[in-house]
Amino acid sequence: MKKVLVTGGSGLVGNALHTVINESTSGDEWIFVGSADADLTDSNATKALFDRIKPTHVVHLAAMVGGLFHNMNNNLDFLRKNMQINDNVLQQSYEHDCAKVISCLSTCIFPDKTSYPIDETMVHNGPPHPSNYGYSYAKRLIDIQNRGYYEKSGCMFTSIIPCNIFGPHDNYKPEVSHVIPGMINRMYDLIHTVKDLPEEEKVFVVFGSGKPLRQFIYSIDLAKLIIWVLDNYESVEPLILSVDEEDEVSIFDAAMAVAKAFDFKGKLICDTSKADGQHKKTASNKKLRNLLPNFQFTPFEDGIKASVAWYIENITKARK
Ligand code: NDP
Repeated sequence: MKKVLVTGGSGLVGNALHTVINESTSGDEWIFVGSADADLTDSNATKALFDRIKPTHVVHLAAMVGGLFHNMNNNLDFLRKNMQINDNVLQQSYEHDCAKVISCLSTCIFPDKTSYPIDETMVHNGPPHPSNYGYSYAKRLIDIQNRGYYEKSGCMFTSIIPCNIFGPHDNYKPEVSHVIPGMINRMYDLIHTVKDLPEEEKVFVVFGSGKPLRQFIYSIDLAKLIIWVLDNYESVEPLILSVDEEDEVSIFDAAMAVAKAFDFKGKLICDTSKADGQHKKTASNKKLRNLLPNFQFTPFEDGIKASVAWYIENITKARK
């Protein structure tokens, strides 16, 4: 039986894992922790957490996370905090003889100038997009550190590379949020708080040109894949966990899906004075498809519908 510690257990992906675990019949014990349980930038607090829980396995999700604008304004913090968190968690996992650690990288840490589709071999091939270099370099170091522990002691510390994630329990704070929770929050406010216009005359503003392309994975799908990785994937090499290349959508398409889920009757326009970030980061999930050919991803519009419904139902407790 495993005793699985989930760092970042109070976040978007942590909550999705919780939901999937609650529906499973496995006898493994899962412990979900957030920053209130231990500040993982603090090495003593991290050690105390591991001493108390004594995990056999770790799903390491905790990170300073944010959307394009949050990254652009705080690159140094993203670099330092994430390096501290990752070093503390990996070193404690090593000192506590954990049988496996799965840490989260991201498709947004790949080189800016690259060929497409991106695959697992390309993580370190060149500088990341300047908008999020702090987050990117800190995440890339996880892969380097995993290889170091493997070389030193044969540790099965590995990493997954999700594309953009969305779902219930996302972070909706305007200054921090990723594109989808940001749009959900702003569209809800436009519909419910702007009272002096009929809905048909309301205008929803998409930040940037709307043209960048992204792959989005529903958090519940990612949680199922993480459990599969925990039970079946025995390699230090990173594994991309993404929807298929043909499921890539533009930011404007994503805004249209959010509008449809809200049944918003107004207009959508693009504010091209705002930054777009990287134009695309198309990732190949060929390695995943070879290992797990029959995995069914939730269709994008269904995931958006469920996420909007969750937000409306949980408006008072959502992180905003
Ligand atoms: P969230 O922002 O939803 O959650 C972050 C989690 O990290 C929270 O549980 C938070 O705890 C915890 N945390 C942050 N700082 C600390 C700290 N100093 N000490 C302890 N815990 C801390 O993130 P997601 O669920 O979206 O992301 C999970 C992982 O997936 C991250 O590693 C992220 O980099 C990666 N990822 C995310 C993507 C996305 O689109 N969201 C895309 C690709 C990868 P609390 O809330 O209690 O403060």
